Amino acid sequence: MRDGAAVIAPVGSEMAETFLLEELRLIPGLRVKVNEPLAPYTSMKIGGPADYFLTISDRAALSQTLRALQREGIFFCLLGKGSNVLVSDLGVRGAVLRLDGEFKQRHWHMEEGKARVSVGAACSLPQLVREAVKRGFSGLEFAEGIPGTVGGALVMNAGAYGSEIEKIVERVEGVTRSGEPVGVDRAEMAFSYRDSHLPAGTIVTEVRLRLSRGDAAEMNLKIRELVAKRKKSQPSGHPNSGSMFRNPPGDFAGRLIEAAGLKGKIVGRAEISERHANFIVNLGGASAEDVRGLMEFAQQEVERRFSIRLQPEVRWLGEWPSGSGM
Ligand SMILES: Cc1cc2nc3c(=O)[nH]c(=O)nc-3n(C[C@H](O)[C@H](O)[C@H](O)COP(=O)(O)OP(=O)(O)OC[C@H]3O[C@@H](n4cnc5c(N)ncnc54)[C@H](O)[C@@H]3O)c2cc1C
Repeated sequence: MRDGAAVIAPVGSEMAETFLLEELRLIPGLRVKVNEPLAPYTSMKIGGPADYFLTISDRAALSQTLRALQREGIFFCLLGKGSNVLVSDLGVRGAVLRLDGEFKQRHWHMEEGKARVSVGAACSLPQLVREAVKRGFSGLEFAEGIPGTVGGALVMNAGAYGSEIEKIVERVEGVTRSGEPVGVDRAEMAFSYRDSHLPAGTIVTEVRLRLSRGDAAEMNLKIRELVAKRKKSQPSGHPNSGSMFRNPPGDFAGRLIEAAGLKGKIVGRAEISERHANFIVNLGGASAEDVRGLMEFAQQEVERRFSIRLQPEVRWLGEWPSGSGM
């Protein structure tokens, strides 16, 4: 355990790292991995190591961890299911935090005909969709096939086929970077396309969703239709991160990239999908640099031909070689 009174260890020094590790390893409800490759934790299967990979099982562990990281001046970022991130080949200098344990819980309420679920940020969205249907709670069907966590979906304002999570959010619970609790009601939030605009640094811990009573047969039919649509239009078989670029107003990134003749374009081991031009697939062994190179090429070609600058939808995590970045 760190004895801060006796020894002063400069931030970033080997001694400070040892103190931090010792401190982290003593926090109940926290699993610590050092120099952990991030590729297995992303849907793209790409990404170098995180200095610290911290899996946090409860609120007490979360606040203790945040306090320790803040005290040592350690950078950190959150990772959900890693289905909307591109992690750099160099990885993350600092800590990657992943919620688990009690952050996967959900509490279903049905009061006076009002259906609600309070759900932990680490709960899998597809799992929540299936459970809602089973219980006859409607409103989440649109999210079938979005392979993230509830926290990731909230941050990204995930949506599909005309619906977005913002339509069913009632309240968000979280903590600030220093571990202070924050609660935000829907009325105070300003969602936009693929963004929830939460106060910078908010760590989402729980989301309350407002659903309605639904007919199981109807919900199952809708879900089957959406699954069929996805199967027809999206690549399968190779790791990917879903849509790489946001749709520009009034148009579709996939349409523009296809119109630029880029379907099937390969850089290294990354390819613009033949099935859907807004998807980049990892053919096996692709690097983050391959994907970045392909994204930049698509961006330049679309801008050259159509004077539209595509903006990435995937979030970039980690340390990038200087000069790169969109
Ligand atoms: C095959 C496929 C299909 C997809 N289809 C869709 C689709 O139809 N619609 C759609 O919107 N998206 C889609 N996506 C993208 C992705 O699944 C969603 O954006 C999803 O909501 C991301 O959740 P995640 O848990 O994977 O987040 P991550 O990718 O892990 O993280 C995304 C961002 O959220 C932050 N974050 C994660 N958890 C927290 C938290 N608890 N607190 C604070 N910040 C947090 C991360 O730091 C990062 O900035 C698809 C992806 C794939 C691979």
